[in-house]
Amino acid sequence: MIIHQPSIQIKDDQVIVSSKIETKAQISIPPELWFKFPLEYLDAVTDRTEGFFISLFLLGMHLNEDIEIRGEVSPLLADNINLLMTKYLQETKNQLHRVNFNFENLNVADQGPHRNIKLSSFSAGSDSLYAFWSHHFPKISDHPINLTHGLFIHGFDILLQNKEVYQKLLSDYQGQFDEWGLSLISCATNVHSFYQFRVPWAYAHLPPLAGAATVLGNRVSEYIQPGNFEENQEDPITASSYIHLLSTETTKLSPHAIDLTRLQKIIKIMDWPPAQKNLRVCFKMNNKHGQIVCNRCNKCMSTSLLITMHDKWNNFENYNKKFTLGKYIYFCLQSGNVYAHKKTGYLEILKSKKRYDFLLVFWLILPINYIKWFVIKKMLPLLPKSWIFAVKNLVYQKQTSK
Ligand SMILES: [Zn+2]
Repeated sequence: MIIHQPSIQIKDDQVIVSSKIETKAQISIPPELWFKFPLEYLDAVTDRTEGFFISLFLLGMHLNEDIEIRGEVSPLLADNINLLMTKYLQETKNQLHRVNFNFENLNVADQGPHRNIKLSSFSAGSDSLYAFWSHHFPKISDHPINLTHGLFIHGFDILLQNKEVYQKLLSDYQGQFDEWGLSLISCATNVHSFYQFRVPWAYAHLPPLAGAATVLGNRVSEYIQPGNFEENQEDPITASSYIHLLSTETTKLSPHAIDLTRLQKIIKIMDWPPAQKNLRVCFKMNNKHGQIVCNRCNKCMSTSLLITMHDKWNNFENYNKKFTLGKYIYFCLQSGNVYAHKKTGYLEILKSKKRYDFLLVFWLILPINYIKWFVIKKMLPLLPKSWIFAVKNLVYQKQTSK
């Protein structure tokens, strides 16, 4: 696999940083990986290759291809990437491979630019709202941070073709950031097309998140990733614990509040009006017709359940329906691993609220759910990768690289 020297172009009111990508494998990927930002961030983008390498090294590991990296890369990153590769290999078993990285030009970025952006990504999920809550309430937060900007990415949890939802949310969130006295940077990227149906996005999205921040490396001194707590111990790579290994000499990366679960974060921010107005945890990537949350995926439903148990469902704009027992039966049946709810404290909440009807449903459905989980997690991965890709490609709508 070759990651070519990135180039910077200006088109209309946007700056586009792109790099040509070649693989030996005969697979359908876009010819270029690109990131777009508003033109006002022209001085922030860099044509160094780190952001592209960070975004795609997992693809090289998935394809079992050594990666040739053209253009400039940080020596610190080149030192740490082998350690990170080892972590991924330990935790993904046979899904990824050890590969070699061939860096054409290792050198430290110019210290000259004024790096004055302290960035955190923002999607209005529980992790990012908790990060910005921690910025605003340093005295009562266990994880205080100091931020100047947020980064809202189109092409991650909102598909590129779903422009209507992204634009609506961008406008809402920019209003929120104005109120906070901070700036929100919009970004679009086609990186998901490289991973779709190949590497689970639940863990593949983390390096590209760091990659997008690193493409802004001429002005970003720190990127603080709203941390993912590990809900499912069977799949621990979704944790953000290793993101510091993607730091460069001039842009420091670190995770935020990885010791708190989503449930704990939502409880902390539950009375905060910006959380009530904006919280959006939806796992479904192609909500259509302007729909912001699906209220049917695992994340939406567990959040809605939590809010109902605290009698706050009237306050939340996106989760304003009471969570019924019927919905809980559906929730347990469709959950990928309902047992994870036990580990993350949902059962404790149900017990403390004396909802024995919900608890009975949980234990009755658990055996059925376990068999389903075993087939999906343990048996499907034994099939050849090309079969899994072909089946997923048939079942799901493929994201285009527009
Ligand atoms: Zn949802």
